[in-house]
Amino acid sequence: MTVELICVGTELLLGNTVNTNAAFISEQCAMLGLSMYYQSVVGDNAGRLERLLCTARERSDVIILSGGLGPTQDDLTKETAAEVMGRKLVEDKRAKQEIQACLEKLGHTITDNNWKQALVPEGCKVLYNANGTAPGIIIEEKGTCMILLPGPPNELVPMFQEQVYPYLRSRQPEVICSKMVKLCGIGESAAETAILDLLAERNPTVAPYAKTGEVHLRITAKAADEETAGSMIAPVEEELYRRFGDCVYTDDPDVTLEEAVAKLLESHGLTITTAESCTGGLLAGRLVNVPGISGNFKEGYITYSNEAKEKLLGVSHATLEAYGAVSPQTAAEMAEGGAKAAGADLCVSVTGIAGPEGGTQEKPVGLVYIGCYCRGRVFTEKKLYSGSRSKIREYSVASALTFLRKVILDETAG
Ligand code: AMP
Ligand code: MG
Repeated sequence: MTVELICVGTELLLGNTVNTNAAFISEQCAMLGLSMYYQSVVGDNAGRLERLLCTARERSDVIILSGGLGPTQDDLTKETAAEVMGRKLVEDKRAKQEIQACLEKLGHTITDNNWKQALVPEGCKVLYNANGTAPGIIIEEKGTCMILLPGPPNELVPMFQEQVYPYLRSRQPEVICSKMVKLCGIGESAAETAILDLLAERNPTVAPYAKTGEVHLRITAKAADEETAGSMIAPVEEELYRRFGDCVYTDDPDVTLEEAVAKLLESHGLTITTAESCTGGLLAGRLVNVPGISGNFKEGYITYSNEAKEKLLGVSHATLEAYGAVSPQTAAEMAEGGAKAAGADLCVSVTGIAGPEGGTQEKPVGLVYIGCYCRGRVFTEKKLYSGSRSKIREYSVASALTFLRKVILDETAG
């Protein structure tokens, strides 16, 4: 079953109103497993709306319209839809009573044009509106179904959830369910290469989404009911866990990488600090995104200059002279020094060349060293990124979180 969305309102075309109804309805239709191939916005103009409705009728099974059901002259969605579907407008008794009750409750004087909202196309299904005066309307015809909804989101959203969703659900024999598996510490191409066979499957499908320093894999199954879809997804998910192992940091779409790391710190009772050069606090900022991190993270250091690295982290002058600030030696001393200064179990350090200036043949822009100290042992990792200064800094933070996670997993294993 294909569905098409038409949002009516000149204010949408002018950019005065953000089309939040489109985002909401699209998401709901996707949840229902309906295929939406077209969306349009049209102004309050009968001729253009009529032409659009005629086109939509030829290519879609269900046409959802939002807006233009108000009492004023420029609200003409209902009149135009009725005309296209060849229906007369007739008065709906219950709608009329409800409009009267609603306006009286609000203390509004009833004007003649209010009764316009009680008119509905003959033989339609009326969606009574508990939050306003305009009833929604479903016009069914062989081959086409039109669903008219009021524009105000506080009316449209509950009407959709309570009446339209169950209606469409009953007409749509299949459900679509999906599950997210989030990976870190593996690049997009490596991840894709590892699952080429799964990517070729049609049901369930596996779709990769590249994020900064992460790859998210969405498994989606179409089935008669949720239980069946779930049982189709489960073996694919298990297979992803088998292939990606520790690279999987969560299967919860709402959990971020920093939250997964924070959970590890908490469950092992570990405290952490950060020693940042080129990321200048971004890493600490990501950790502090997590509510409740205060039990594990007390302080962090931004040591951008060499002097600060010596003064706050105790990096030796000789190391900086011999190897430079961007080196595994400095990253290691930053991590160790940070942990000592803060009295923390762990410290992650980042030092790199974010550019656009400052690169050399030997140490190009994008070269980053990450250090991680964990209870007496220190590890380092080299990374090389391309892109803008802000991209390099964001990637460095993602790598630092990923490296930290790996060190915690390794050091707490067994
Ligand atoms: P209408 O039903 O066209 O009279 O719309 C009434 C009000 O609903 C408008 O003034 C907007 O504030 C709001 N509205 C209409 N269409 C949308 C939409 N697509 N998304 C968000 N708000 C809308
Ligand atoms: Mg309008």
